[in-house]
Amino acid sequence: MTESAAVESPEKKIKVRINKLQKRLRREVGRAIEDFNMIEDGDKVMVCLSGGKDSYAMLDILMNLQKSAPISFEIVAVNLDQKQPGFPEHILPEYLESIGVEFHIIERDTYSIVKEVVPEGKTTCGLCSRLRRGTLYGFAEKIGANKIALGHHRDDILETFFLNMFYGGKLKAMPPKLVSDDGKNMVIRPLSYAREKDIAEYGELKEFPIIPCNLCGSQENLQRQVIKEMLNGWDKTHPGRIETMFRSLQHVVPSHLADTELFNFKELQMGYAHGIAGDSVTNFFDPREGTEEGGEPRAEKMPEMIDILAL
Ligand code: SF4
Repeated sequence: MTESAAVESPEKKIKVRINKLQKRLRREVGRAIEDFNMIEDGDKVMVCLSGGKDSYAMLDILMNLQKSAPISFEIVAVNLDQKQPGFPEHILPEYLESIGVEFHIIERDTYSIVKEVVPEGKTTCGLCSRLRRGTLYGFAEKIGANKIALGHHRDDILETFFLNMFYGGKLKAMPPKLVSDDGKNMVIRPLSYAREKDIAEYGELKEFPIIPCNLCGSQENLQRQVIKEMLNGWDKTHPGRIETMFRSLQHVVPSHLADTELFNFKELQMGYAHGIAGDSVTNFFDPREGTEEGGEPRAEKMPEMIDILAL
């Protein structure tokens, strides 16, 4: 083999990396779909596209999975053009045509409504999102889509969890699957297990035609920004912590929190012990993952636990 043949070309390297990321994202999306029964045979899935990296990646992976899935489901891509000044109207239709997916662009001037209703200097995102949600949910019904897919990922879910805890006093995140308030739509988040940094890299390498999200002139929610920086900092100094924290959302122990509506502490009887010892250290851990005797926590978890205690 010649030396030049042995050295991988930059194009080849990019292709290999895209394949690797795609495989990982496919696996994570597939697992989320299965764990939460997000998509079933015969479903019509309306994939909401904002023009950001997350929704492009979601559409790309869902279309990819659709080809090899053991079930048959439809995909319809939908974008809501909210008439923000400078919104490049041609980008999404051109891209969607190029990948051969059925799509709709809904035009609704929510920008003017928001500007008219929200006082100058106040954050516009709350009303804007509500108007967007309402329009999209109504459109899903109109086209007979029984599932609405949103592009939120694992990091969005964790950020929301901390936002609710720090600023709202609630232990609540963003569910991978939920029924809309009016009970008429099933909302799914197929990227729930996907890491934002993988999505960002995938989007960059695939050269998705990203539309900037600050066209409305609104600042990104400052509190969310603070949480994001906190999580990114932990990710650098304590690799693996983000994964552990996300796992905690899937291992909730109501009897070891303090919500009297979630767990009937008043009528707690002797003999109810989850099969674990009652000391506070052991109780940091989900009894489902404890030792067979329900005694000491597993040794490999100790450093992370010490970190938590030191916070
Ligand atoms: S950033 Fe702008 S477009 Fe996005 S939700 Fe906020 S107001 Fe709406």
